[in-house]
Amino acid sequence: MTSCYPALVTHAPDIPTSRMPLGLCANCIHARRITSDRGSLFLLCELSKTDPQFEKYPRLPVLSCSGYVQAKQHA
Ligand code: SF4
Repeated sequence: MTSCYPALVTHAPDIPTSRMPLGLCANCIHARRITSDRGSLFLLCELSKTDPQFEKYPRLPVLSCSGYVQAKQHA
């Protein structure tokens, strides 16, 4: 059974997402940052929609992941 849980919940919305401890998800093409109406931050793994072995909300930081695909770097 796959469990889903918030990856990171903060009540301090002034913390930049760039400082969140995301691990590999920080620059993976499958990662999507979501901010709730109350300012809580979540990391959603889009790969979970097509492959059940991936958690919708992975435990962070992710240090090893077979689905990781590096996003293009911005110059
Ligand atoms: S595939 Fe892995 S590294 Fe990429 S967003 Fe999902 S959990 Fe994070």
